[in-house]
Amino acid sequence: MAENNLKTSHMAIVLGIGLGVVLLIILSLLLTIVINRRDRQAFLQSRKSPDERLRNLDVVAQTRTLEDWFTSTKDKMGLSDAVDSQFVCAVCLEQVNRSEEIRELRCLHVFHRECLEKWFLGDHFNCPLCHRAYFVADNPPRNDYVWAV
Ligand SMILES: [Zn+2]
Ligand SMILES: [Zn+2]
Repeated sequence: MAENNLKTSHMAIVLGIGLGVVLLIILSLLLTIVINRRDRQAFLQSRKSPDERLRNLDVVAQTRTLEDWFTSTKDKMGLSDAVDSQFVCAVCLEQVNRSEEIRELRCLHVFHRECLEKWFLGDHFNCPLCHRAYFVADNPPRNDYVWAV
């Protein structure tokens, strides 16, 4: 009788270990599936259309005409109307005309709208001129472009 009991408990232990192993395998399989799916989502997110990505840029660098920008900035910068204000876009090195659309970064540097968009879509998250990082919500800067703010 005692021997029987011993055998039963022995079997129970073996069964328990077996079940545990099976459960562990199932769990790790499930985890792999979840992680794979998360990777795929991250991958899909990083492949947003340029239009969607540019909406992120709008948050940190508004689009307006140079005329508009100059009117609201000259007071801040203490410039008078008499100042000969010529702006050169550091991306294409061309002069920016008053009627052209520009984007202004947090560092107050101004570029042609198209020039900064090209720069941004090329995964550059720093000002082309002073290299200060501009923060864009779901585009965390990649390591090789991170500079001190
Ligand atoms: Zn330009
Ligand atoms: Zn700058």
